[in-house]
Amino acid sequence: MASNARVGEHVDAYCRRCKLVLDATVAAMIDNDVISVVCRTCGERQRFKTERPKASPRQRRVVEVQPTRKPRLRSVTPARQPRSLPQLEAVEPPTPKISAEDAVTAAVSARWRKATDGVHSRFARPHRREDSYCEGELILHKAHGMGVVEAVDRAGPLTVLFRSGLVQLDGRASNAATP
Ligand SMILES: [Zn+2]
Repeated sequence: MASNARVGEHVDAYCRRCKLVLDATVAAMIDNDVISVVCRTCGERQRFKTERPKASPRQRRVVEVQPTRKPRLRSVTPARQPRSLPQLEAVEPPTPKISAEDAVTAAVSARWRKATDGVHSRFARPHRREDSYCEGELILHKAHGMGVVEAVDRAGPLTVLFRSGLVQLDGRASNAATP
């Protein structure tokens, strides 16, 4: 910044402490450039600036300190579950100590899931006791939901696999399905 000023002379300079353009004494120069000044109002020596600096992003930034929150997980998963357990298995954590009955139920519901997986209930035929059914057919029952016909006797009943387990329903074997 070229000027005709000399050290010791007065210039208008922006004071960072007073935050105003004020009278300042030139304190240092290089060639014809005023390098630093001393504010005559507050006495602060500082780099020479002619005008208020544009608000820099640093000045405007509001420092938001967010504590790193670690939500405390209630122990949903069994504490003994080894950390190295692969993700795939972690989806369905093994239930420890299941009774034989539970095992059967689990097996049945697994079988049911496999049989009905990806099948929309509208593809299942509503169950009617006077109808005939074949093995493997999907049916819809008012109380039990969707089920798969597991076995059919010629004159009934039907053995149907529902989510809740095997249920016997009225119904006949369809002629087509019986060899
Ligand atoms: Zn000042």
